[in-house]
Amino acid sequence: MYWNEKIECMSREDMTALQNERLAAQVKHVYDNVPYYRDLMDKKGVKPEDIKTIDDLHKLPFISKADLRDAYPYGMLAVPLKDCVRIHSTSGTTGKRVVAFYTQDDLDLWEDCVARALTAAGATSDDVVQVCYGYGLFTGGAGLDGGSHKVGCLTLPMSSGNTERQIQFMRDLGATILCCTPSYAAYIGETLHEMGLSPADIKLKAGIFGAEPWTNEMRRQIEELLGIKAYDIYGLTETSGPGVAFECPEQSGMHINEDNFIPEIIDPDTGEVLPEGSKGELVFTSITKKAFPLLRYRTRDICVLSKGKCSCGRTLIKMTKPMGRSDDMMIIRGINVFPSQIEAVLISSGYTPNYQIVVDRVNNTDTFDVLLERPAEALDYEIPKREKALASALKTMLGITPKVHLVAPKSIARSEGKAVRVIDKRKLHD
Ligand code: ADP
Ligand code: ZN
Repeated sequence: MYWNEKIECMSREDMTALQNERLAAQVKHVYDNVPYYRDLMDKKGVKPEDIKTIDDLHKLPFISKADLRDAYPYGMLAVPLKDCVRIHSTSGTTGKRVVAFYTQDDLDLWEDCVARALTAAGATSDDVVQVCYGYGLFTGGAGLDGGSHKVGCLTLPMSSGNTERQIQFMRDLGATILCCTPSYAAYIGETLHEMGLSPADIKLKAGIFGAEPWTNEMRRQIEELLGIKAYDIYGLTETSGPGVAFECPEQSGMHINEDNFIPEIIDPDTGEVLPEGSKGELVFTSITKKAFPLLRYRTRDICVLSKGKCSCGRTLIKMTKPMGRSDDMMIIRGINVFPSQIEAVLISSGYTPNYQIVVDRVNNTDTFDVLLERPAEALDYEIPKREKALASALKTMLGITPKVHLVAPKSIARSEGKAVRVIDKRKLHD
């Protein structure tokens, strides 16, 4: 049930003591070895001696994605390059890629975090883990693969794509745990049924899905399609990769591996630290990584932290599912809209998670279109009525009315990695 019970169930007092000790050492390591961050600290007038406990964390400067792009490729490296054994890079979802470096110890720590996630989802050395996250520079494949080896599972390093072959292997080799993005899990589930198969024909019991936002509505749909329990996993290349936080069987938020990453929630506009329970931007300080140890890294992911007791027995703080990145948020006719809000409405109205949001500006007014696939059984005459009902359900959720288009089944591209949900043509015009 636990991969590392001592850490995962540690008292708050002991966790704070551990974090204090690791934080002080890490700040010194970064100050001594990363001139870029030393300059930021000097400008703010902070010295390593000023950071004694986690209560001093707020004195440190933030690091943003822009800093990482400035410092590309070696500017944030804190050990000699010859001590590094691996490089990964972000998916580049929101712009130029960032590269991250790992020593062998960093890889071990990362795999340990992923092993905790797999164990929380029920994995043991008896399991067969099918990894269909992309392998390569992306952290998804390598991260889940490493964690799976650590737990001693039989690992199928499939990478993404070739969905029918994925299902063939899943059946032939009796995969019990599936790891991929939630949008790809939905696609695999859809394909399984199209092949005339059902969950009874496969041995999967659990799935570990992350790397992109997904709603609880989408979770239920995947669970039903594949006959599994679906667990969320969160992470980002800048903090190593997936496994920074993971879900336990309670499925109500992800436990953060706080012995490695100290989380904070800030107001994204002012940078002010917000009290526990507030919604804001998640910031991480890595206190164990050596090659690429970011202090107060602004993730741009929006969520809430809570320290409440969890039924699984873990005491690690939990983060809610990020509702999207601050830069996923669209402002349409002056109203803030997140794709995840739209997804929740579409799926709870009985549609599949194949949708696309198109925003444009025509004659100085924003246009807002939601495309989704009509169900195969829907009759032509029902379509306008269905579109109207969806538009009004979306209006209730968002406060503005989109134009809804039910398009032909299969006409929206399926995703094998991170799904592209939004096409904002206004950005293309700028
Ligand atoms: P990129 O930022 O280019 O996509 P990464 O592959 O490192 O590069 O992706 C990390 C980001 O993916 C996170 O900052 C977050 O926005 C998103 N993400 C990862 N896991 C989850 C998850 N479980 N739920 C929602 N978003 C997630
Ligand atoms: Zn729990």
